[in-house]
Amino acid sequence: MPRYNPWFITPWSAPWADVSFGVQQSFIPTQMALIVHKYGGTSMGSTERIRNVARRVAKWARAGNQMVVVPSAMSGETNRLLGLAKEVSPAGSDPAMQRELDMLAATGEQVSVGLLALALQAEGVPAISFTGWQVPVRTNNAYTKARIESIDDQRVRAELDAGKVVIIAGFQGIDNDGHITTLGRGGSDTSAVAVAAALKAAECLIFTDVDGVYTTDPRVVPEARRLATVTFEEMLEMASMGSKILQIRSVEFAGKYQVPLRVLSSFTPWDIPLAQEAVSGTLITFEGDETMESAVVSGIAFNRDEAKISVLGVPDRPGIAYQILGAVADANIEVDVIIQNVSHDGKTDFSFTVHRNDYARTIDVLKAKVVPTLGTDRVEGDTRICKVSIVGIGMRSHVGIASKMFRALSEEGINIQMISTSEIKTSVVIDEKYMELAVRALHRAFDLDQPIG
Ligand code: ADP
Ligand code: ASP
Ligand code: MG
Repeated sequence: MPRYNPWFITPWSAPWADVSFGVQQSFIPTQMALIVHKYGGTSMGSTERIRNVARRVAKWARAGNQMVVVPSAMSGETNRLLGLAKEVSPAGSDPAMQRELDMLAATGEQVSVGLLALALQAEGVPAISFTGWQVPVRTNNAYTKARIESIDDQRVRAELDAGKVVIIAGFQGIDNDGHITTLGRGGSDTSAVAVAAALKAAECLIFTDVDGVYTTDPRVVPEARRLATVTFEEMLEMASMGSKILQIRSVEFAGKYQVPLRVLSSFTPWDIPLAQEAVSGTLITFEGDETMESAVVSGIAFNRDEAKISVLGVPDRPGIAYQILGAVADANIEVDVIIQNVSHDGKTDFSFTVHRNDYARTIDVLKAKVVPTLGTDRVEGDTRICKVSIVGIGMRSHVGIASKMFRALSEEGINIQMISTSEIKTSVVIDEKYMELAVRALHRAFDLDQPIG
């Protein structure tokens, strides 16, 4: 893989190079680097913004890089399309219906790639767009949440070799039977990282509406700080705990294939010097990288998408957890936090969380399959909960972090309903109405609004 160095730029190596363009005239020519850019919905939100994306991509292409661009649908478009579906048909989990939802939702990204290719051509840069199925990006057949299995790089490489910018629709693929699939909300991140892995790109840059990964969502805590680097493990934990800056699967892909990944802003002027842009934002670093900022807690994630379910008064005997959760797993429902209470008089309470979309179905499964065999009819649920997590690889080597978290929450009078821990995170389930209060209190308690050092 050519080593990518943003300072060594060879403007003459691209056939359409505009030498008067004003990029650095380096006298140390390096090999061309293959770079993947991903632009999210807000970055693609209007034709004016798309023209800016085109100018930014043109800058990178004219500097001699082979460019692959993976855009999302224009902001609000995927919601609009799924809203239309609701108007004609009630929600359902029937695969025939899910297939058509993907057929519909995938059109948002098709509009984006066409517009972006046109905008690039208008800039004088040869460009060609592909849908997922044209590449093809092969996925399994789990409509609305398909997983990428392989990406054929031949067609893309041929176009790159012909000197074109290749634009690939994010969020979509095709299964083995030729049906269009989508990758779950926020899935364009995963498309971009998977394309970068398949092409062994020198770097994958995720352009978005914030200038990097922050200690927590800056929309909730304005004092949140941008992290110059975050380790892959922390990013994985933050994404899985609900931070929506990157789709979790994109981080998994980056880890598995060691894809160099950077999150940065698309709202800077498009013509900022490439060398400056190339080192901006947040770099996701891998194990062994010692550049990590040395905070114990690096970030706070929160998630409003879960619901809590409790089965009360179940007999406390071996096999109960299996009986309850086995039935839930058989229905293909993922379970997150689990607690079983101390038993009284041979009875115990068992609680767990599931995604809110699976809440009603989980209650149905429990009532149909579990309640009759367990001799209890007390199944309770609460959809007004949220999960707040502190994440940091420094937690491995420090004691007392969880208790500091619990103290900060108790000082705000926030009751903890469930707790779950791993080596580098502690999560609590609390009443949804305290979410912002909890995130702000923890952000302060762990000094995340203070500059490092
Ligand atoms: P895109 O459309 O570019 O994919 P998203 O809306 O999916 O953008 O993700 C960017 C948003 O993620 C930001 O606007 C921000 O509100 C939110 N966000 C959540 N957690 C964080 C975090 N820790 N750091 C930065 N942004 C975050
Ligand atoms: N357009 C899709 C969504 O809104 C995919 C993405 O934006 O990443 O979820
Ligand atoms: Mg996103």
